[in-house]
This record gives sequence, C-alpha cells and structure tokens, in this order.
Amino acid sequence: MTTAASASQQAQQDDQLLKTQPESYDIAIIGGGLVGASLACALEGFAREHNWSIAVVEAVATAHSPSGDAGADAAPAEIRTSYDARSTALSWGTRHIYEQIGLWQQLEPHVAAIKQIHVSDKGHLGATRLNAADHHVDALGYVAPNIALGQTLLTGVKQAQHVEWLCPFKVTGFEVKAEKHLLTLSSSSGGSENSAERQIEAGLVVLADGGQSGLKQQLNISDYVRPYDQYAIICNLTMSQPHENWAFERFTADGPMAWLPLPGAKDIALVWTVPAEQIDEVNALSDDEFKQKLLQLFGFRLGDIERIGERYQYPLTLVRATEQVRPGLAVLGNAAHYIHPVAGQGYNLALRGVAELAGVLHEAAQKGEALGSLAVLQRYQQRREQDQDAVIGFSDGLIRLFANGNPVLGHLRACGLMLLDRLKPAKRWFARQAMGIGGSSVRLKQLMASDLIAEKQSADTRIQKQAGEL
Ligand SMILES: Cc1cc2nc3c(=O)[nH]c(=O)nc-3n(C[C@H](O)[C@H](O)[C@H](O)COP(=O)(O)OP(=O)(O)OC[C@H]3O[C@@H](n4cnc5c(N)ncnc54)[C@H](O)[C@@H]3O)c2cc1C
Repeated sequence: MTTAASASQQAQQDDQLLKTQPESYDIAIIGGGLVGASLACALEGFAREHNWSIAVVEAVATAHSPSGDAGADAAPAEIRTSYDARSTALSWGTRHIYEQIGLWQQLEPHVAAIKQIHVSDKGHLGATRLNAADHHVDALGYVAPNIALGQTLLTGVKQAQHVEWLCPFKVTGFEVKAEKHLLTLSSSSGGSENSAERQIEAGLVVLADGGQSGLKQQLNISDYVRPYDQYAIICNLTMSQPHENWAFERFTADGPMAWLPLPGAKDIALVWTVPAEQIDEVNALSDDEFKQKLLQLFGFRLGDIERIGERYQYPLTLVRATEQVRPGLAVLGNAAHYIHPVAGQGYNLALRGVAELAGVLHEAAQKGEALGSLAVLQRYQQRREQDQDAVIGFSDGLIRLFANGNPVLGHLRACGLMLLDRLKPAKRWFARQAMGIGGSSVRLKQLMASDLIAEKQSADTRIQKQAGEL
C-alpha cells in the first residue's frame, strides 16, 4: 500500500473513531456569547485546581474569536451573536467580578465610567440624580462596547489552558443520558461541502445559547413569556458637547431612552424603546428626521447631535425559563432570563449567575460531589432565585410604571422622582439597584483560584469597606 493510501485509511479510521467515541469533558458550555465566554473564564481558575476539562461550543466565528477565523462569520439567520454593535452598561458589582476573574485590567481602557446618572420623565418636573462620590465609589457603573467585551472575554478563553473553544460548531442534538449527556455538533465552515459532525459528552452541560436555538424546546423546558410589544433601537451618536460621564435615563411618551457615555468624550450609546406600533414609522425616518426626533425627546443637554451611527433593532419580550437546572444541566444567561434592557441589567444579572455557578461547582469539587449532581445544581438555583426575582421585578416594574400614559400616574411619577432625589434611604436603594449590588451577594471569594486569593485580598478589603459604607 502506498503511503498516501495508508494515510487516507488512517484518516478514515480516525473519523470513524471520532463518530463512535465522543470526546469527553467535565463541563460543556453551549454558546460562547457574553455569558458562555464569561463562565469559561470564571471556571478556568478552578479548573486548574480540580483538573477539569471544559468545552465551549459556539456556532458563530467572529474576527476576534480565539481561532481568529472570521471565515464563517455569516451567522445563521436564527442566531444573533453577543458581540454586535451594542454597548453594555456594566454595574459596579460586575467590575468586581471582572477583577476577580482577572479580566478587568484588559477591559478597563475600553470602557467609559458612569459618574452620574440623571433620571427624568419628559413633560413632568421631577428628576433624580445619582452621584458616584455620594456613594463612595469611583463610578456607579461602566459602559463597554460589546466588541471590546468580546475581545476581552475571548482572549481570556484563548489563554485558558483547560478550555477548548469549539467554533464554528452548532449543537444540533442533545441526548439526555444518566452519566454524561451526549451532544451532536455540526460545523459548516465555508460551505456545505465542508460540513462535518462530531459528538462530545459532558457530566455537566450549561445551556448559554441565548434561548433562540431551539435546544430548550428540544429538552421540553418551557418559558414564562410576556411580550412587551416594544422594540429596542440602538444607535451610537456623537454629540457637540462632552458627556462628562453622565448617563441619562429619560422616560417619554414615545418610550424610555437611555443615553450612555462611551469612551469617546462626546460619544453616546443610545437605547430607545419604541412601542411596536411605532417601529415602522421610526424606521422610515431619515437620519436627519431621526436626529430631530431624538432632540425633541431628550433636549439639548449634550448639545446638538453631530453624527448618527447605524441603527439596529431588537424585539423585547420578558422570558424566564421555568426550569433552570436538571441533572447534569444548568440554563444561564438569556436562555434562563431575557429581560427588558431599560435598566441595563440583563448581563449584570447573568454574570452574578456565572459567578455563583463557578463558586458552587468549586465547593462541590472540594466535597467530592459530582458537578452535574442535581443537589449541587439546586444549591446554585436556590442562591440565584431572590436576585433574579428582584431584578426582573425592578426592570418590569419600571416599564409598567413609565409606559402608562395615565396623567395621574404621570404626576405620581414626578412626585416619586422628586422624593427619590430627597429621601436618602430610597436613593441609596435605587443606587444599589443601578450598581448591581441590590440583590443577594454572590459568593465571590470562591470565584478565585486559591493561588490568586492572597494577591487579591487587599483590593477586596478596600472594595468591601466601600460597599459597607453604602
Ligand atoms: C438592546 C439591548 C441592550 C442591552 N443592554 C444591556 C446593558 O446595558 N446591560 C446589561 O447588563 N445587559 C444588557 N442587555 C442584555 C445582554 O445583551 C444579554 O444579557 C446578553 O447578551 C446575554 O448573553 P448570552 O450569552 O446569554 O446570549 P447571547 O448574546 O444570545 O449569546 C448566545 C450565543 O450562543 C450561540 N449559540 C446559539 N445557539 C447555539 C447552538 N445551538 N450551538 C452553539 N452555539 C449557539 C450564539 O451564536 C451566541 O454567540 C441588553 C440587551 C439588549 C437586547
């Protein structure tokens, strides 16, 4: 037999082996978006200690993915990647988690600090202002372009020695097994002629697929769903005056809007929630008409709008998975809860889930428990429930209160905002929600690999002291 023929036979045998023997991992994460990639980074420290093997399966390759291959960037129509033109408001609590997983230093140069927040209701007098200095913190939160978040997280994944990045692979099959669940992965890099299938198995599978891929349905996990009949329009703006690190939350009859400071001194990330019946009308506006509409709703607090970026829209619905854990399965991120972006809390809430899960798995490994054990995963769920209830209730409550055109409610809102501005305890509570430290505290200490604890302890003490003063 020629060498070429024997090499081809060997390749066929290897192929066959791959089909019959799935690669085995301790943890498989489906979805390498903001939440899946964050979890992989949070687990890496513990993986070193417990020798875990982790796979992240991501359907869409992007330019900044660890493989650096954007060749298959054509995202399947039903899948939207995390790392798009949006920006994400990160709470002060999220900064703390990024510090603990060792990514804050990389991210910090790409974020804008929120030093003050101004909340107002168009057409009514009341307004409230939150100031970082009043709460003894450097910033109430930060704004990061999602592209920068992606670069930071995916670099973290690339450097993680216990994490394998399987991309572009879409999980198309999920077979529930007693010991290890079996996943079928389909790749289509560069056309159907190159499509390939492989199988992997894992004792714990984390579903962080954003909830759009149909895997929840395949597993018969139902959702609580409440459509808002609204769309979020996002767009980057350049103003004529510097934002000076102010963030604005403005409630208007045409929907709530957030004006968030970006790293450029005059750059703003706009999130405007528009009722579904008005979306076609808003989409039909020319850039100049769009600009006039924005100025009419927001005023000239930051001067004129000098440049308008591309506009994108997202349909808004409250979705909460009715089951978030099963034996060998945890549901995280958008797949677990997709909430209204009005208060900018979706990723912050999910990241606290990421931190909690990493801590619970570390604890389980120390006690010799299986990572996929239902008892272990139920511990995780119990610790997350209160925070999820609070944040979902807060975001949903804001929408119900401010979406109501009733004039009596309008006056009550105005009084509420004025009172909020004057009542210290109420203002402190509101600030804590905005800073992402209003819910149950995550067991952050356990997030860190033990060899990093000493190094981080002094920074921790300072942060905890500040939190205690709030
Ligand atoms: C307009 C808007 C503004 C927002 N602003 C904020 C904010 O300011 N602050 C905040 O905290 N949150 C904000 N959020 C929420 C935040 O964007 C989400 O919490 C976050 O994107 C959730 O990330 P995820 O990884 O769970 O899901 P996704 O971002 O949907 O990622 C899922 C990933 O899974 C992959 N995938 C899907 N199916 C499969 C499959 N079968 N196999 C393999 N891979 C798969 C996808 O390609 C994708 O990369 C906002 C949301 C919106 C819509």
